[in-house]
Amino acid sequence: MSWEENVRKVVPYTPGEQPKFDRMVKLNTNECPYPPAPGVRKMLQEMPYQDLRLYPAPDAKILTETLAEYHGVEPEQVFVGVGSDDVISMAFLTFFHGKKPILFPDITYSFYPVWAEVYGIPYETQPLDESFRIRVEDYKKENGGIIFPNPNAPTGVAEPLSLVEEITASNPDSVVIVDEAYVDFGGESALPLLARYENLLVVRTFSKSRALAGLRVGFAIGNAKLIRYMNDVKFSVNSYTMNMPSLLLGREAVLDDAYFKETLAKVVKTREWMKRELKRLGFSFPDSQSNFIFATHQEKPAEEIFRYLKEKHIFVRYFKQPGIDNYLRISVGTDAEAEILISTLEELLK
Ligand code: PMP
Repeated sequence: MSWEENVRKVVPYTPGEQPKFDRMVKLNTNECPYPPAPGVRKMLQEMPYQDLRLYPAPDAKILTETLAEYHGVEPEQVFVGVGSDDVISMAFLTFFHGKKPILFPDITYSFYPVWAEVYGIPYETQPLDESFRIRVEDYKKENGGIIFPNPNAPTGVAEPLSLVEEITASNPDSVVIVDEAYVDFGGESALPLLARYENLLVVRTFSKSRALAGLRVGFAIGNAKLIRYMNDVKFSVNSYTMNMPSLLLGREAVLDDAYFKETLAKVVKTREWMKRELKRLGFSFPDSQSNFIFATHQEKPAEEIFRYLKEKHIFVRYFKQPGIDNYLRISVGTDAEAEILISTLEELLK
């Protein structure tokens, strides 16, 4: 008998690389290429640092109230966490507690199976169709819960609200989680459905559209009963997940809506330019509504392109996974970064 027999052994999620070079083009983790709102910087400079002596507010009210007002819901309907990873992890632990398998697409955010494994939740993946679309019939079988991102990752494909509604309405006995990490870039949010479906939970993040991946803030909106259950679990694990700086800085990001919209518009404009240029170079991709493009080249293998770009300190994401191992997930950068990417690809492919 060795102590190792008692160890919980898991295969962890592998996040994208965070390389540090002076001159690099980093398009591998879907971060925002622009800085956070100016109010965030101002708050950083004025931070009441003496308050760090005290525990932060366990109810995270400063932020839940701001988010509730912004989204037109009650503060009791908002749960905040350390990035949406923390929020989704808490949602798995809270809502996926039955014996039936939970369902999610076979090509999707690769953290879902990792949480299912670590919490011992049975799961069954459902194949996307050949255009990377969700097949709604697959989600009408018995299940212990459902989760999918909309737009999906790493494909960028956005499903219409009607599909989200059909899945939610067909599963009144399960909690349906819609992971809207990328919805601000073009998808249709499921928030309007909350009034009609008490089994729906919508998860969002500050990491992409609000340029705060480094702060680690995410949230969920659902009916007050769902949020109460999530808080009960959260307060059984760690009461103080949200530190005081995150609460204050996160609030500033939400308050500046003009800056938020301006940033989104810039990212979307560059994305559309990148789509045209990638097409011209012989790439094809499902039409992305997110801040990345999931592209495959008609001749050059994705892995080869990935390595070539990496040598030039241009970082994109490559998943060596059946079905998508000839694709690259390329985040949308600034115009200047996009131009470097395209001219480098042009050189390789000429
Ligand atoms: N959901 C999806 C679909 C994602 O791609 C990501 C980013 N890796 C997350 C959730 C988690 O993001 P964060 O924890 O930074 O909010």
